[in-house]
Amino acid sequence: MGQLGFYINQSLCTGCKACSVSCKDKNNLDVGINFRRVYTYENGSFMEQPGGGIVHNIKAFYYSISCNHCTNPKCLPSCPVGAIFKDKDNGVVTIDQEICQGTQLCVKACPYGAPQYNKKVFKSNKCNLCIDLQEKGEDPVCVATCPMRAIEFGPIDELRKKYGNVSQIKGMPSDTITNPNLVITPHKDARLSSS
Ligand code: SF4
Ligand code: SF4
Ligand code: SF4
Repeated sequence: MGQLGFYINQSLCTGCKACSVSCKDKNNLDVGINFRRVYTYENGSFMEQPGGGIVHNIKAFYYSISCNHCTNPKCLPSCPVGAIFKDKDNGVVTIDQEICQGTQLCVKACPYGAPQYNKKVFKSNKCNLCIDLQEKGEDPVCVATCPMRAIEFGPIDELRKKYGNVSQIKGMPSDTITNPNLVITPHKDARLSSS
């Protein structure tokens, strides 16, 4: 199968959060725990004109992100009890809930905020790329729910062939830290100068 990953067409995302809510529902997550998060970036301001009236230069865009099942997952070596595994066939990174001791070192190590700590059970957990659904031939819930069809998943080589190699936009950590298995079509205001 090869390494799996996500594709996000950020230029289509309306920030509706259906992906995040459906993921919460599927994984039965408490308030404040989100395996998929939708961020809003805004800058600019309203300006009064000398002759009256108001103009603005506000730019806003949304970004949906979960775990990127990285090639160099910083979460994995940070775990002192060996609870984090990267599947050798599909590259999916998972946290074994039986082994996790809730040290939260993975939470601190991940530059993307993917592992989420659950205070009720003293354990961390995160997106597993809905591998249980994939094994039944179904799509991950976030992919199936997005009304804009802004999220895709699949072998990362194929996604890169179709959509290119951008895996970092304004406001995101450097993609050289973990080599995320993620391809992004950036919103026009979110592009780094090199992308
Ligand atoms: S996004 Fe974070 S939690 Fe997911 S594999 Fe990469 S480093 Fe680990
Ligand atoms: S693949 Fe599944 S677990 Fe991961 S963000 Fe999407 S719905 Fe949540
Ligand atoms: S469901 Fe789709 S459009 Fe809505 S926030 Fe998620 S990625 Fe964006």
